Amino acid sequence: MKEVKKLGINTTCVHVGEVKDEQFKGAVSPIYPATSYAFDGVDVKRYPRYFNTPNQEMLHKKIAALEKTEDALIFGSGMAAISAALMAFLKKGDHVVVQQVIYGGTYNFIVSEFDKYGIEYSFTESDKIADFKSLIKKNTKVLYIETPSNPLLGITDMNAISALAKENGILTMIDNTFASPINQNPVEFGIDIMLHSATKYMGGHSDISAGAIAASKTHIEQIWKTAINFGGNLSDQTVWLLERSLKTLNLRVKEQTKNAQIMAEYLEDNKDVDNVYYPGLKSHPQFNLAKKQMKGFGAMLSFELKEGIDAMKFQNNLQLIKPSMSLAGLESTTVSPTQTTHALLSEEERLSRGIKNGLIRFSVGIEEVKDLKEDIEQAIKKAKS
Ligand SMILES: *Cc1c(COP(=O)(O)O)cnc(C)c1O
Repeated sequence: MKEVKKLGINTTCVHVGEVKDEQFKGAVSPIYPATSYAFDGVDVKRYPRYFNTPNQEMLHKKIAALEKTEDALIFGSGMAAISAALMAFLKKGDHVVVQQVIYGGTYNFIVSEFDKYGIEYSFTESDKIADFKSLIKKNTKVLYIETPSNPLLGITDMNAISALAKENGILTMIDNTFASPINQNPVEFGIDIMLHSATKYMGGHSDISAGAIAASKTHIEQIWKTAINFGGNLSDQTVWLLERSLKTLNLRVKEQTKNAQIMAEYLEDNKDVDNVYYPGLKSHPQFNLAKKQMKGFGAMLSFELKEGIDAMKFQNNLQLIKPSMSLAGLESTTVSPTQTTHALLSEEERLSRGIKNGLIRFSVGIEEVKDLKEDIEQAIKKAKS
């Protein structure tokens, strides 16, 4: 394989990290499902939980190339990746500053596990840098961010976060799931560790559970030492499926991003819709920041229907767009955060975070936008009657 940096993005998606079929010269990577490898005269002890089977090792290269880092690791889920990364760098007595608006599973992990290990944590009030700064203590070891965040697509300033962290000798971690490596490479802004739920855009077809971490060789080495103890590796059959999915990552995400921009503008102009939250809209309060740090604005957006239009009735009447707890597949889906991801919060707590009852999160797929618009129009009509 030629110098990875010089390859175009689609070439990287298709070719970097292929397992060469030396025996039969097949066009795609063969799967090596073995859980047992010879130990005689080899310097690498291969074992799936050591994250070093041929398929794992090669796919790490593709993910590292996509995130522009030296190395990567693939896991059985996004949470396996996130928990391994945090536990690798935190010990008893350490402190972590966490952005308030983060994925619910990550929030649960922190509040339900960290106390057991004597790890301290503080959540910010917002995604403002001053908030992070005010919470840093002598024992702060990690700043943890997510941008764009769920469900209001808030944007955190990655340059400012990494500068603040470096000043204080702190490590930075980002959940880069929403942007995917196609729309955002945080390493270019000095962020240390990139985390992904590969269940989302990387898998892209709503049929794989996986996670990934991309970082420097040194950081990956340290995470690896913890990760082999937790045992969250991905099976080689699924590693292979993820490799296949990643071949079209750029094609899918580019098309979804293009569609999302069109749908966001369409919804903003729709008289039955109130607010639209999408970083690619000039009305987004952090549009300029998003423009500075994102290559594309992503394919996630949220919107509120006007008062009197029932959000659940609207969603139940959609024909093409599916109601779904998850996101980022190539099919368009919607979810009602009040009923799902944020159901455990009281209405007051939700409102204080800007999450109104009628809020709908929209994961835009690759369908033609004319079909999506027609579907939304007919569902609004039914929700009104
Ligand atoms: C889904 C998701 C996760 C968790 O990933 P799993 O694969 O479900 O474990 C983490 N962060 C974000 C932003 C997600 O959307």
